[in-house]
Amino acid sequence: MSKQIPYWQQRQQLKLQGKKPEGVKKTERREKAQFFADQLVNAPKYCENCKKPLAGTMAINPAAVVAHIIPKNPTSGCPSVAVHPDNRWFACGDCHTDYDNRGAEYVKAMPIFAELKRRVSLFYDKIAQAERRRVPQYFRPRGK
Ligand SMILES: [Zn+2]
Repeated sequence: MSKQIPYWQQRQQLKLQGKKPEGVKKTERREKAQFFADQLVNAPKYCENCKKPLAGTMAINPAAVVAHIIPKNPTSGCPSVAVHPDNRWFACGDCHTDYDNRGAEYVKAMPIFAELKRRVSLFYDKIAQAERRRVPQYFRPRGK
């Protein structure tokens, strides 16, 4: 039988491994599912960037029309605002893919760019201090 280790040591080991307890992961999954469901209630009919209908993307995967402005990835994004209601825009599949993959110069030239920057300014102060360096410079409010 394995010896039970103290709680603080368990916590430390979890931290060192970068793992979250199952209960925390479950809560986060539930919050993310709720976030997508809440956003879809108010989804427009057209892509906010290219104005094409969202119906095609919706038919394949409804959640795909909800694009995070600041990524939620735990190591390269800002999980502290993963479910913030302003950290999203509505995208067709093509614009969503381009936004996530084509890089800074492409994003800055997108028709929706100024609106995305405005939205980031609404929740920037909610981003955890340790994650703010991951926010692209072009999205940071003046002086931050
Ligand atoms: Zn589009």
